[in-house]
Amino acid sequence: MTARTIDGTAVARRVREDVARGVAELVADGGTAPGLATVLVGDDPASEVYVRNKRRLSTEAGMVDHHRHLPADVGQAEAEALLDELAADPAVSGILLQLPTPKHLDSDALVARIPAEKDVDGLSTLNAGLLAQGRPGLRPCTPAGVMRLLDEYEVELAGAEAVVVGRSALVGRPVAQLLLARNATVTTCHSRTRDLAEVCRRADVLVVAAGIPRLVGADAVKPGATVVDVGIHRGEDGLHGDVDFAAVAEVAGLLTPVPGGVGPMTIAMLLANTLTAARAQQGRGT
Ligand code: NAP
Repeated sequence: MTARTIDGTAVARRVREDVARGVAELVADGGTAPGLATVLVGDDPASEVYVRNKRRLSTEAGMVDHHRHLPADVGQAEAEALLDELAADPAVSGILLQLPTPKHLDSDALVARIPAEKDVDGLSTLNAGLLAQGRPGLRPCTPAGVMRLLDEYEVELAGAEAVVVGRSALVGRPVAQLLLARNATVTTCHSRTRDLAEVCRRADVLVVAAGIPRLVGADAVKPGATVVDVGIHRGEDGLHGDVDFAAVAEVAGLLTPVPGGVGPMTIAMLLANTLTAARAQQGRGT
């Protein structure tokens, strides 16, 4: 193996410690502790685990837990009313609607009830538009986590060739926009890209968020490149990503593992967004 491994677990811990310090400073300065409202609809076991972790880590950082749980058969109007109530509650700094919601609900319409300043998942149309225009706003957590990892490992972005595999609103598209904002030359690949490996081989920085296990192999990586694997797949042999880690580690310069790479960063950046939102709402800058 030649690649250096990016330790997302350690970076995420540092981010959470920074957030905890920020919360303590806000309170010591006469402010109010940030409040995070996670909203879970139904009883999907994976979503329950994600929400439990978000709640635990937010309270460990000194935030106030405003979790709400709605039954799986809740109506659209009732779910929207709850989000409106949280939107109006000054104790709630951030609202996170755990996705996916049950199929009978219109999740886009639900997310639209979350005001941009409390949209700590960064998925509202307004925050997505601000990002697209290169203006300040709350950024989606996983893409923000990817950028933080690149910064922690001092990866040069200005002028770099960056290739992003995937164009989802949740990951690929915002990652590409964030890289562009940092003056990388960005190419976005998707399911219709003609020769994926050939395009990926151009990359100094390759971010893969396609949702296909081991899609990217050594033939798609330029020697010495930085490779960030956003994919998460649970196989019989444990968790793995969209990148063939063992093969790519022989070629890349810097590489995220799965687990222990991007995964832990998502919640850490959610906490960072919640602190940012609370500060802004309390007139203490961004
Ligand atoms: P998604 O909505 O399914 O999007 C996948 C994207 O990959 C689409 O844009 C799709 O292209 C593209 N794609 C599919 N097959 C491809 C191929 N053969 N070649 C090139 N591009 C291809 O998935 P997502 O929500 O972005 O998530 C991606 C992965 O990241 C998943 O494994 C997910 O579990 C993981 N994830 C991890 C975290 C974390 O915290 N670590 C957070 C979110 C997601 P089209 O647009 O043409 O369909």
